[in-house]
Amino acid sequence: MGDLPSRLAEIDERIADAARAAGRDPSAITRIVVTKFHPATLVEALYDLGVRDVGENRQQEFSRKALEVGPLEGLRWHFIGQAQTNKARAIRSAASVVHSLDRTRLADALHAAAEPADAPLDVLLQVNLTDDPGRGGVAPDALEALAAHAAALSSLRVRGVMAVAPLDEPPAPAFARLRGLADVVRTVVPDAGWISAGMTADFAEAIAAGATHLRIGSAITGPRPERG
Ligand SMILES: *Cc1c(COP(=O)(O)O)cnc(C)c1O
Repeated sequence: MGDLPSRLAEIDERIADAARAAGRDPSAITRIVVTKFHPATLVEALYDLGVRDVGENRQQEFSRKALEVGPLEGLRWHFIGQAQTNKARAIRSAASVVHSLDRTRLADALHAAAEPADAPLDVLLQVNLTDDPGRGGVAPDALEALAAHAAALSSLRVRGVMAVAPLDEPPAPAFARLRGLADVVRTVVPDAGWISAGMTADFAEAIAAGATHLRIGSAITGPRPERG
């Protein structure tokens, strides 16, 4: 699979190819490297290679790692996992962007945790593209109300939508639905143009469907270590 610099370069090349094939400008796409289960040293190695956006999906691991890495000029942490309301403060204190806002109580908790009270936090509304309510995300028919609720909280900047492709459906039609749901959010927040979609297995399809933020883990980091 090559070493870290070559894997990163190869994925960036494939992102640029997919963007051009879709008639899109590659520089308008943010590639987030998902570093979950990997040590803080991997985040530092990625930073040295120019990576400025990293993603984590478990609050405890995220908080620990962010503390260990410490402040690095321009580094943005994206929180992409299911969030408990009682962990809102911990998440807010380290994250630049929360991709997994999926219910009004979590919006309220993230807003209440703002420090100072008007410090802005970028949030994406996570949508469940499956019929299984156990998967993360708001049901599509509740999305508009969640957008309105979050938009009314002064410390939250609603930027757009996020989703994970279903396992039992090809990614393209699922991401096409997501794009339609992004338009629903824009009826509430007109400049909420971000679409966070696409992982190792499906980022080309996500780019074709208009994704602005890709969350790519194993293709860049290599296989995840066993969770300890
Ligand atoms: C782990 C994870 C990713 C990255 O997955 P890969 O298949 O390793 O690219 C993206 N999004 C979320 C929400 C994740 O939990």
